[in-house]
Amino acid sequence: MQFYSTNNPELKADLPEAIFRGLPADNGLFMPERLEPLPAAFFKELPYMSFAEIGFQVSRHLLQDDVPDEELKALVYDAINFPAPVVKLDDKRYVLELFHGPSLAFKDFGARFMSRLMGHFNKGNDKELVILVATSGDTGGAVAAGFYKTPGIQVVILYPKGKVSLLQEKQLTTLGHNIHALEVDGTFDDCQAIVKQAFLDEQLRSEIRLSSANSINISRLIPQSFYYFEAYKQLGAAGDPVAFCIPSGNFGNLTAGLLAQRMGLPVSHFIAATNRNDVVPEFLSSGVYSPRPSVATLSNAMDVGAPSNFARMLNLYGHVNGKDASSPATHAAMLELISGYAYDDASTEQAVREVEERFGYVIDPHGAVGYLALNEWQKENPNTRGVILETAHPSKFKPDVERILGHPIEVPTRLKELEHKQKVAKQMSTAYEPVKDWLRKTFG
Ligand SMILES: *Cc1c(COP(=O)(O)O)cnc(C)c1O
Repeated sequence: MQFYSTNNPELKADLPEAIFRGLPADNGLFMPERLEPLPAAFFKELPYMSFAEIGFQVSRHLLQDDVPDEELKALVYDAINFPAPVVKLDDKRYVLELFHGPSLAFKDFGARFMSRLMGHFNKGNDKELVILVATSGDTGGAVAAGFYKTPGIQVVILYPKGKVSLLQEKQLTTLGHNIHALEVDGTFDDCQAIVKQAFLDEQLRSEIRLSSANSINISRLIPQSFYYFEAYKQLGAAGDPVAFCIPSGNFGNLTAGLLAQRMGLPVSHFIAATNRNDVVPEFLSSGVYSPRPSVATLSNAMDVGAPSNFARMLNLYGHVNGKDASSPATHAAMLELISGYAYDDASTEQAVREVEERFGYVIDPHGAVGYLALNEWQKENPNTRGVILETAHPSKFKPDVERILGHPIEVPTRLKELEHKQKVAKQMSTAYEPVKDWLRKTFG
């Protein structure tokens, strides 16, 4: 399978280049060249397939023979080793729980698949690959868990001191082995600036093989399409279209849903749910796209002011250059399939309480934004079934959720165990040189 740049369909890369580079040279985003429906036989078999088997079939269809079947199967079965159950709220509303992986958020799917795919293409290379990531919290945890003990790959995570939650910090700093944490006395932007500088440093790159694992990597989107098929299977109504409601920040999850639909999944509608960072809902209602700095909210993993996957969404609707987002045809095509809604923190808190009162279900603030959006959409589309993607376990946001509900909530054991683990992090200032020296000393 070839991948092209959203900025230029002629600029292509094969799978290894797309995943190790992350970004095309022209700063677009990689997209799969062919997105064809899965064969009818797949949908016939779907009700009897395991989640991992669905992942294997979908990725084989998409990647064709980039990875030999046996290896692809082993890799997918290893990555998709936890469930994504659909929980029924009532006849119209369902929740797809994407938090059963090691870091308790859906980003585990992307990180686990990417690490194994990179591991596969890295085989036979006697020089270690060093993955550099800057994180504001959530991505780092998923990447750390996802790459833990991947042979031939070292991971260095830069995070801002005092600006991630205690739990998030534990997820980054307690694994050890091939996972290294650098605690930067600055902001997330400082962390990102250091990472950028490292990638531009030719001298460093001649000594160390560097790669990134950020959210725009196409290999993170591919496994996120699997669970749309899995949800459809669990709903168990062959041929009956489903609406998906996606709490969104960078819109990777929603884009993965669009890929699933292009691969033949009968989706009736996508509902883009955001917090006050509402550039995409605003675009859908006005046709004008105006990215801007993000504002902080309760659903902080969605605090994104310039969603990186928006260029992919436009691209799927026939628009080639993501910079000109105002083509009326693109906008009209998107509106037919996607509706957008945005909510403030007060409504989100109210929704967390309402979901518990009405359904006895504890939903996290991100999922709560999705619940509100699905309700609003269903007011106009009453005879529909909608699935809310529950992107994280509520205990990831324990202080907020307990404050909102006024009682303690359950914490999964894999999270509880973290509390007692020892933090190991190398202290860094915001300067680049000390990080470079440390990288050379450690991996050079
Ligand atoms: C990352 C994240 C999101 C946003 O997902 P996108 O793919 O960036 O839209 C939503 N909820 C949680 C809990 C997340 O960690």
